[in-house]
Amino acid sequence: MNSTRAARVAIVGAGPGGLVCARILQRHGTSVTVFEREAAFDARPQGGSLDLHPDTGQAAIRAAGLLDRFHALSRPEGQEWRSVDHATAAALEEEWPPGDEGAGVEDRPEIDRGHLRGLLLESLAPGTVRWGHALGSARPLGDGTCRLVFANGATEDFDLVVGADGAWSRVRPAVSDALPAYTGVVFIETGFDDCDVRHPGLAELVGPGTLMAKSGSALLCAQRNSNGHIRTYVAMRVPQDWHTAAGVDPADSAATRAFLAQRLDGWAESLRYAALDSDHDLVHRPLFALPVPHVWEHVPGVTLLGDAAHLMPPLGVGVNHALLDGADLARALIDEERTDDAVRAYEELMLPRSSELAKRCVEGLKHLVP
Ligand SMILES: Cc1cc2nc3c(=O)[nH]c(=O)nc-3n(C[C@H](O)[C@H](O)[C@H](O)COP(=O)(O)OP(=O)(O)OC[C@H]3O[C@@H](n4cnc5c(N)ncnc54)[C@H](O)[C@@H]3O)c2cc1C
Repeated sequence: MNSTRAARVAIVGAGPGGLVCARILQRHGTSVTVFEREAAFDARPQGGSLDLHPDTGQAAIRAAGLLDRFHALSRPEGQEWRSVDHATAAALEEEWPPGDEGAGVEDRPEIDRGHLRGLLLESLAPGTVRWGHALGSARPLGDGTCRLVFANGATEDFDLVVGADGAWSRVRPAVSDALPAYTGVVFIETGFDDCDVRHPGLAELVGPGTLMAKSGSALLCAQRNSNGHIRTYVAMRVPQDWHTAAGVDPADSAATRAFLAQRLDGWAESLRYAALDSDHDLVHRPLFALPVPHVWEHVPGVTLLGDAAHLMPPLGVGVNHALLDGADLARALIDEERTDDAVRAYEELMLPRSSELAKRCVEGLKHLVP
């Protein structure tokens, strides 16, 4: 098997997990190429706010030498958490959100997903990310190397392929037959712009961090992002085809609003406003998760990290563990003499850790959206 320093390493997916892995490898002199299907960094909206935990996400950012830059971009005040009664919007005493890892709850600054991705991208040598490269499949060649077959038919061979390509990973079938399954919960997402000026009541209600209210099988979460933006999600436990039964086209925001308005009957007006009166369309996000545990027999030349390895319900730990995986894999590749030993060491650490975490997130989702 190859010596790690000379190995040709390909990472598929320029999400947080893949990028932090690339950054740490590059810092230690290992050459790496990241293949990303999107055409460019700004090809799509980057999504909401993420809190990085000290012993996982922040530890990875520290290993990447980017902690100062992270602190400059993050919003410590964003970790404020408010739980309110759904009918009155009065404050409730509630424990920290379930699925939580417990340690260091007082040190979890929020950062916009786009800022985090930008921070990691800027730290890489020019040309590291090859944009517009959608992977079709990864084929281990049986001699410890792995072939990437891109959607356009082109191929390239590597000593190690790292699947960091998220929920619907095209690398995953090289190690496992598992597929994500619907969790029973859908998020309806929307957003408000320039809230302190245009939606002051909502801005005050939400404050600098996250507001949550729930009743029965519906939950509202409103989260402040940077630049006065507030992103809201209504989570509902419904069959995956709820919209067919309800006669609602999920692409039709007006119809979805009418459905939600019924669903939130009896909720406080201020909370209904947060769910229904947004500046943006409503986006339908059914939540999927991999079976628990998701483990595989080691396959030379290929491995997974982040959501590709352990897609779980989004209870505030997914990105933290994608980053931790990326850092742990890079560390193992730097420390071990042989690539295959490094990947085995990484998998022995990551697989039991993520199985345990995924179990807690599945239970947490049942509690949060019964
Ligand atoms: C609504 C929602 C809210 C969430 N909130 C939080 C939160 O508050 N805190 C938290 O910790 N986690 C949260 N998560 C989970 C978190 O987003 C993920 O766990 C995290 O993004 C995983 O990182 P990743 O690097 O593994 O994958 P991703 O971020 O999914 O990145 C994968 C990358 O691979 C690329 N890619 C995909 N397929 C291909 C292909 N075939 N070829 C080439 N490239 C490809 C994608 O374009 C993408 O750039 C949330 C998730 C959702 C859905």
